[in-house]
Amino acid sequence: MISRIDLRGSLPENLRDVLPRAELDVEAALEKVRPICEDVRHRGAAAVRELTARFDGVEIQSTRVPAETVLRALDALDPKVRAALEESIRRARMVHRDQRRTDTTTQVVPGGTVTERWVPVERVGLYVPGGRAVYPSSVVMNVVPAQEAGVESLAVTSPAQKEFGGLPHPTILAACALLGVDEVYSVGGAQAVAMFAYGTEECRPATMVTGPGNIWVAAAKRLLKGVIGIDSEAGPTEIAILADSTADPRHVAADLISQAEHDVIAAAVLVTDSVELAEAVEKELPGQVAATRHSERVAEALSGRQSGIVLVDDLAAGLRVVDAYAAEHLEIQTANAAELAARVRNAGAIFVGPYSPVSLGDYMAGSNHVLPTGGCACHSSGLSVQTFLRGIHVVDYTREALAEAAAHTCVLADAEDLPAHGAAIRARFDWEIPNQ
Ligand code: NAD
Repeated sequence: MISRIDLRGSLPENLRDVLPRAELDVEAALEKVRPICEDVRHRGAAAVRELTARFDGVEIQSTRVPAETVLRALDALDPKVRAALEESIRRARMVHRDQRRTDTTTQVVPGGTVTERWVPVERVGLYVPGGRAVYPSSVVMNVVPAQEAGVESLAVTSPAQKEFGGLPHPTILAACALLGVDEVYSVGGAQAVAMFAYGTEECRPATMVTGPGNIWVAAAKRLLKGVIGIDSEAGPTEIAILADSTADPRHVAADLISQAEHDVIAAAVLVTDSVELAEAVEKELPGQVAATRHSERVAEALSGRQSGIVLVDDLAAGLRVVDAYAAEHLEIQTANAAELAARVRNAGAIFVGPYSPVSLGDYMAGSNHVLPTGGCACHSSGLSVQTFLRGIHVVDYTREALAEAAAHTCVLADAEDLPAHGAAIRARFDWEIPNQ
């Protein structure tokens, strides 16, 4: 059901290459999404509606969901789901509120200051996936940080669902209503990213698009980056678990399955120094997989080349492996979990000890679940308030403070053979360089 990779002995130099990872060819997908994006650019909403008919199998009259339909979705919301969503929002808001930035002013010299001012982007398009599964939790994870950052204009989009007459899933609409977002579109895939990038008659262009999605969404984000701002590439889900002999194999198996449930190309990787644990997990998986609702999807994900059990000599080697892998989600289930977690360099989010499973982070920990995948965690962060802010340096120098910096500035301008730079300083001092 799940393959083994034995890295005991010595770890290879090209560690990243030997670790299991989905063959996710975003570059190849780029060629497929290019015509989709061009079509939306040139034909606007008509193209979006046609692409929705083609890829989602449903004809829609308008890409925009009427605001009253969004509001009314609350009426039909199961009170238990409503209470859970409200608690999820409350916890996410607590964490994201603490991420707000304050402006800082540095006095570089008397009369010379640099202030870093944090300004939210003006308008964001938030992508909520909805192909294989529906993710009202992703509404929370997108909207809360954008709101806490102070973004003025928020639009949510999620694929049109045939069984709901071309609207996004009602729980997604209800989550939008709970968060006070009434600009919602029933559009998914690359066409949704292009809609936000170029704008259509029915949707004003956005400054930025964020949110997780499948390979088509990731490819469109990569293609249109520059036309529109993007967050990290948050593609098919990954879980890595670093565990030793103290871990409970039932928990480890359940956690691997919980993320394999997302997608047939979701990745589930166990890294352990314990052969006994590896064997126990291998024994545990078939029963738990058979009992789970999406057992076929899970079995395909676990047996895919992107999943596996990696055996290492010790936890130090395990740390090197998980750092090289840079998982979206990393669980540490070892005797000294907090100490090991503090030494991890690369992960989208880290889940420490036996009572912090990824599922908690998906909904209720207060952390964000839109996280970088495909190894991007070695250079990118998950969604946060920071994603929606830009730091603007405000430079404010007096004549005296400029005079003090003039000589050095002119020397560097000359060293770069950019004399006009120096001239812009000299012009303010009757073409003389003031003495320091
Ligand atoms: P999705 O909304 O990302 O994609 C569905 C859309 O893909 C459809 O609306 C359709 O327009 C388009 N599409 C389908 N087939 C196509 C084709 N052949 N050509 C062009 N476009 C096509 O929903 P999904 O498919 O369920 O994928 C969601 C993904 O998001 C999963 O892989 C899941 O693991 C991931 N996810 C990631 C995170 C994260 O933070 N990294 C969080 C939640 C979900």
